[in-house]
Amino acid sequence: MPLLVMKFGGTSVADLARIENAAKKVQKEVDRGYDVIVIVSAMSGETNRFVGYVEGTSKLYDAREYDAVVAAGENVTAGLMALRLQEMGVPARSWQGWQVPINTTSAHGSARFVSIPRDHIDAKFAEGFKVAVVAGFQGVSAEGRVTTLGRGGSDTTAVAFAAAFEAERCDIYTDVDGVYTTDPRITSKARKLHKIAFEEMLELASLGAKVLQTRSVELAMRYKVRLRVLSSFEDTDENSGTLVCDEDEIMESKVVSGVAYSRDEAKMTLVTIEDRPGVASAIFGPLADAGVNVDMIVQNISERDYDDHPGAVTDMTFSCPINQVERAKKAMEDARAAGIINYDELVVDTDVAKVSVVGIGMRSHAGVAAKMFNALAAENVNIKVISTSEIKISVLIDRKYMELAVQALHDAFDLDKA
Ligand code: ASP
Ligand code: MG
Repeated sequence: MPLLVMKFGGTSVADLARIENAAKKVQKEVDRGYDVIVIVSAMSGETNRFVGYVEGTSKLYDAREYDAVVAAGENVTAGLMALRLQEMGVPARSWQGWQVPINTTSAHGSARFVSIPRDHIDAKFAEGFKVAVVAGFQGVSAEGRVTTLGRGGSDTTAVAFAAAFEAERCDIYTDVDGVYTTDPRITSKARKLHKIAFEEMLELASLGAKVLQTRSVELAMRYKVRLRVLSSFEDTDENSGTLVCDEDEIMESKVVSGVAYSRDEAKMTLVTIEDRPGVASAIFGPLADAGVNVDMIVQNISERDYDDHPGAVTDMTFSCPINQVERAKKAMEDARAAGIINYDELVVDTDVAKVSVVGIGMRSHAGVAAKMFNALAAENVNIKVISTSEIKISVLIDRKYMELAVQALHDAFDLDKA
């Protein structure tokens, strides 16, 4: 039997009517001849409610009990989905993580998959069951305790099952109808993409396009799981939504596929540091130890005998998420107090945003950066930091110009046109 994985997010199973609507989509695939593994999220709002209960009970909570509580939402949906399918005459059975078992590490709250043995579910399919409904977001540790994968983790559960069961495709049903060239709330010209390459999706996901959990895309890329994002609120068919797939499957791609942004950025500059071997390591070591996710890094060119500094000096600028600024500041101040680094001043700018253009076509096309900077210059947007990778160019700009920049870049790269 060909097999499909279908995943339904929180808004798609928010109440009994929506569960029924989702079940109808599952029934349609069963009628087409598929065995189906359905991965469900908690009904929307439930996980937040449970997290609130935990935090309201214990400030420094035991992560094992946090997982025991927050995994409950998915259990409810899995049972209800199986019941609804049975009511519709579809032979279905539900599975909590430990029943499969979905073996994970013991990192409670951010566990990772170790293995997903197929035998129990395969045996049920062999008995004539058509659907296995599996609770997303959870698993079981080697110690036999319930674990969770981190918020948004049921996307990753879905991809892991698609890989383990060699599914033809992994369909992620959600409240948007696909992946767009940019956020449609920022420009009405945003266009739905028919296909996007794993690598592009990965850049867009980690840059703040919140459609899929980043880890799910990483996993899909590693195991070449064809992933489709589509709406559970519309009538859908084989051509609906956006297919996230290997770039070989994308015949013709534009140089730039999308514009992503991230609002919650901060920029920090260490003014006047010594320019000598080991200085970058002396800065970024303590930042890493403090758990700061440094993103862009710029080191200024060296100046000699500046002011009262006898050797060569430079400035170092980096960006990090805005909610890590205090941690980063403390790491730098502590490192200075301990004599590990020396700087005159630490300048913090919390009014910045990152805007990026992404596209696999960049590998083989010159001039993308020039076009990007041109478009920003035409709108008088000042660029503070630039970073590039093989398929992405990012700039840090004043946050108040973020939407303008996204719109200008969307226009400059003709993303409204197919
Ligand atoms: N219910 C979990 C959450 O809200 C997992 C998921 O829905 O992906 O994060
Ligand atoms: Mg989600």
